[in-house]
Amino acid sequence: MDPAVAAAAPAFARFDNSYARELGALGVRWPPAAVPAPRLVFVNHALVAELGLQLPADAAEAAALLAGNRVPAGAEPLAQAYAGHQFGGFSPQLGDGRALLLGEVVDVAGRRRDLAFKGSGRTPYSRGGDGKAALGPMLREALIGESLHALGVPTTRALAVAATGETVWREQPLPGAVLTRVAASHLRVGTFEFVAAQGERELLRRLLAYTLARHDPELVGAPEAALGLLQAVVRRQAALVAQWMNLGFIHGVMNTDNMTISGEAIDFGPCAMLEAHDPAAVFSSIDRRGRYAYGNQPVAARWNLARLAEALLPLMIDADAAAAAQRRAVDAASAAVAAFDGHYRAALLRGQRAKLGLREAAGDAAADAADAALAADWLALLQRHRIDHTLGWLHLAAAATGDEAALAALFVQAGADAAAPAAWLQRWHARCAADDGGASSPAARAARAQRLRTVNPRVVARNHCVEQALQAATQDADLRPFDALLAALRRPCDMPPPDSGYDRPAPAEFTAAYCTYCGT
Ligand code: AMP
Ligand code: MG
Repeated sequence: MDPAVAAAAPAFARFDNSYARELGALGVRWPPAAVPAPRLVFVNHALVAELGLQLPADAAEAAALLAGNRVPAGAEPLAQAYAGHQFGGFSPQLGDGRALLLGEVVDVAGRRRDLAFKGSGRTPYSRGGDGKAALGPMLREALIGESLHALGVPTTRALAVAATGETVWREQPLPGAVLTRVAASHLRVGTFEFVAAQGERELLRRLLAYTLARHDPELVGAPEAALGLLQAVVRRQAALVAQWMNLGFIHGVMNTDNMTISGEAIDFGPCAMLEAHDPAAVFSSIDRRGRYAYGNQPVAARWNLARLAEALLPLMIDADAAAAAQRRAVDAASAAVAAFDGHYRAALLRGQRAKLGLREAAGDAAADAADAALAADWLALLQRHRIDHTLGWLHLAAAATGDEAALAALFVQAGADAAAPAAWLQRWHARCAADDGGASSPAARAARAQRLRTVNPRVVARNHCVEQALQAATQDADLRPFDALLAALRRPCDMPPPDSGYDRPAPAEFTAAYCTYCGT
C-alpha cells in the first residue's frame, strides 16, 4: 500500500497502555495467534462509539483486526499474570492462558477501559490448554454482558466476536472464535494474590499505587491506602453481588481470579439465570458441591475478599512495628472484610425496596428490619411454591393496582393455591399505603405499578433462550435468534416480541437437566 494512503487511514484506537508501561512485570508481551478465516459475527456498535474506536469499513479488515490477525497500531498485546483460589484451592500461577490485554483506551466519557482478547491462542500461561475459545461461549459472553449492562449491573462487555474458521476440540468439534472484551480493568483479586504469593513487597506496592490511580484516585497518597482499597473493593463487590441476587443471576465460578477489583462482573462461562426461586440452585457442571450456588454467592464473595485482605496485608503491617501495631493492622483488615455483610444487606435492601415499590427509610433500623423481613418472606413464598423468580417480581406491578390475576395464575401453574400469596400481599399493600400517607389512592397505585415495571425486568437471559440462540448460531450459522434475543435483552422492561417466549420460564425438564460448562 502507498505509505501516504496507509497514514491517512484512521487508527482503530488511540491506545494508551498504562498497565504495560507501569506493570509490565506482571505479564508477558505476547502476540495473538493468526487464524485461518476470520469473520465478524457480532459487533457492539454502541460500544464502538462509546470507546471512540474507528472500525475499518472493509469487513475483511475489521475481521482481521478483531480476530487477532492484524495487531492494531498502538496495541501492545500482553498476557497478564495472576493467581487465584479456584473452588477454595490456591493456584499460585494462572494468568491469561487464552486471553491477551491489547491495551487501554480512554472512552468518550473520559473513563479508561481495557480492550482484551479471549480465545486468541496459547500463551506462556496456557498450561495444558489450547488457548482457544468456541463461538457459542463467546456469543454467550456477549449476551450476558449486554443483558447485565442493560439491567444496570456493572459488567465487562463484548465489543466483538469474530469466528476464526478453526475447529476447537472440546467434548466435540466446535467452531472457534475470538472475543474482544471491554473492562474497566482486568485487575483481579488474583492479581494481588499473585504478587503477594511471590513475596514481592515492592511490586505489591506498585500494584496498589497503579490500582488506586485507576479505580480509587481519591485514595492516592492516603495514609492507609491498602486498607482503603480493601474497603472500596468490599463495598463494590457487596453492591455487585446484591444486584445479582435481586436479579436471580448465578455467576457459577466465583474464583478469586474471576473477581474484579473494579466491581464489574466478569467471565460468564458457566453462569445461569434462576428460574424457580431456590437458594440451592446450581447449574455449573464443575460445581458439584454447590460452592457457587445462587444463595451462596454472598458467602463466596466475602470469602474471596478475605483472600484479598491477606494479599494486601504486607502493605498494612510494618515488619518493624511492635506486635500490638501488627495486631491492629490485622484487626482492621478483618473488620474491613466483616463489613461486607452490612454493605451487602444494605445494598440488597435498597434493591428490594425498589423491587417492592417502597420508599427508602435510610437510618431507621426498625423500618429496615421490617422491610427486609417483608422481602425475605416474599422470597420464601416464591421458594416454597417454586415460583419463577423473574415473573414473581414482575407480576407485583399489576398486583400493586389490585390486579392479582397474573400472580395468582403463576401460583396455580406451580401447583399452589391461588390464594397462597394473599396474606403476604395484604402486608405489602399495607406497607405501600404507609408510604402513601395511610391509604393508597388509585393514582398512587398506578404510579407504583408503573415504577415497578421499570425496576423488575420482564426479559432476562433465560437459560433456554440463550441456549437456543447459541445453538442456531453455532450449528446452523443462523444469527437471527441471537440478534433477536440480544435486542430484547437490551430493553429488559419492554414487552418482547409476541411468541418469542423470552418472558416465559423454560419447560421444567429443561431446567432440571440444564448444565453449564467451564473452560469453554
Ligand atoms: P476461566 O475459568 O475461564 O476463568 O479460566 C481459568 C484459568 O484457566 C485462566 O488462567 C485461563 O486463562 C485458563 N484457561 C481456561 N481455558 C483455557 C484454554 N482453553 N487454554 C488455555 N488456558 C485456559
Ligand atoms: Mg477467568
